[in-house]
Amino acid sequence: MCDTDGWSFDPRYTQGRCPICGWTPEGAPDAPRWLALANRLDWQMVGLWALVDVLVLLGLIVAHGAGLLR
Ligand SMILES: [Zn+2]
Repeated sequence: MCDTDGWSFDPRYTQGRCPICGWTPEGAPDAPRWLALANRLDWQMVGLWALVDVLVLLGLIVAHGAGLLR
């Protein structure tokens, strides 16, 4: 419940602040722990490195199938 405008909200889903005036409640968690972790990760880089891994793996499979690794 916001002190200023009396708006009732759950700080876990509003980054710990009132969605109307931006007031921050005392000691409120600003986000669930997993959400804070997910926001900190750069998902585009994670996807890029996953793609690189898959491409390297495919290259090794193709090279093995072509008999280049003997
Ligand atoms: Zn407010």
